[in-house]
Amino acid sequence: MNDPTEPRGFQKIFNKRVRSAHLARRSLPFKPVAGNNKYNRLSEAFSKQPVCSERVIYINIPFCNKICSFCIYGKELLDKDSKWEEYFSMLHKQITSLADTKWARYLPFSAVYFGGGTPTVVPCNSIIKILELIKENCSLAGDCEITVESTISDIDGEYISKLKDAGVNRISLGVQSFCTSLRKKIGRNADKEEVMRTIEMVKNSGINDICIDLIYNLDGQDNETWLEDLELAKDNPCSVRSPQRRQVCICKLTWPGCRYNGFWCRSGWTD
Ligand code: SF4
Repeated sequence: MNDPTEPRGFQKIFNKRVRSAHLARRSLPFKPVAGNNKYNRLSEAFSKQPVCSERVIYINIPFCNKICSFCIYGKELLDKDSKWEEYFSMLHKQITSLADTKWARYLPFSAVYFGGGTPTVVPCNSIIKILELIKENCSLAGDCEITVESTISDIDGEYISKLKDAGVNRISLGVQSFCTSLRKKIGRNADKEEVMRTIEMVKNSGINDICIDLIYNLDGQDNETWLEDLELAKDNPCSVRSPQRRQVCICKLTWPGCRYNGFWCRSGWTD
């Protein structure tokens, strides 16, 4: 039987990486499917042992301040505080109830991942409270990787510093492209200079693992723009100093302008 943590196909060009958010559901003893009995199946799954030892707690924060044109993820515009407040109160209840299950108590978790949406659209203290709740209720490995995703515009130095103090050791930035005109076209406000400044800010925060998401095959993106994105991801100021690690997550839209059914993504360490 294949080891689900082994890199496959294209992923082999990267060094081995197992703590990906994309692996979060692989340790469940069933494939999640849409349907009315989804929640029954979930509670049944949590009453069993996980099918592999590398396990990730994935916390989804499905809100964004702006909706990007290419996005396939489940999210909604955050236009009032009550939306996230209600969601977080449900999250608290779910974490405490699921933590006391056979699946959750099996072995320490290797990683905790706050994804979305854009987790950093909510106040930093709310993310930290969730992380503290996880630490109180779940066993985390000593070298547990704790990631928070953000866009370029939804994070600042104070936010990063609070996350770091709370134990976050990895930031994943949705850059998508450095090209200012392309960024505007896909609904991103920050220009290339702001992207550079934000990456530099994360590097200087003392958080050692930084992931940059890039997308290719966007409408209006030619080879030259894409190669420039790759160069910028590779060289200064995005390159990171030892012992920091750099990760680039590359997503391809399978045809320009597509959204659903056309998202292809591979990622890995490039150090
Ligand atoms: S910020 Fe991320 S999750 Fe939100 S709409 Fe853009 S790509 Fe989608």
